[in-house]
Amino acid sequence: MSASAHCIFCKIVRGEIPAINVYEDEHTLAFMDIQPASPGHTLVIAKAHASSLLDIAESDLLAVAVTTQRIARAVQQALAPDGFRINQFNGAAAGQTVPHYHVHIVPMREGQRIGAHGRAPADRDELKALAARIRDALSP
Ligand code: AMP
Ligand code: ZN
Repeated sequence: MSASAHCIFCKIVRGEIPAINVYEDEHTLAFMDIQPASPGHTLVIAKAHASSLLDIAESDLLAVAVTTQRIARAVQQALAPDGFRINQFNGAAAGQTVPHYHVHIVPMREGQRIGAHGRAPADRDELKALAARIRDALSP
């Protein structure tokens, strides 16, 4: 059985489990983190399965970087955070919980002290509303 068969992010790519998407192109997908560290916390993944930075194909790595910039700009425009973090974890010891390469975009407010991960699942309607605002701010 391939590594992707039971991978939750591959299941999202295949449409087998739902996600609140903000952007999709041939090689990448961006969707709302279900347990956000802050409002607007978005994940960017490559559609092809790779577990970490060590095994992702160079072309997918580049595609994720370009999509990350695109989504970060939209988050900035839509939510006007004071800053944002780009987090990326490799290996359980580093805090990676989903072994499918992904980048976190975490909007930050002045003085905000938060961990890398959220503590509780967000309200689905709130996530949908934030996703709609980010989608509206995406440049064509
Ligand atoms: P990491 O520690 O970098 O592997 O982070 C994985 C992230 O994926 C966490 O922030 C989770 O809240 C998030 N996550 C896990 N399952 C889902 C899901 N089904 N939809 C959206 N985000 C998810
Ligand atoms: Zn996967």
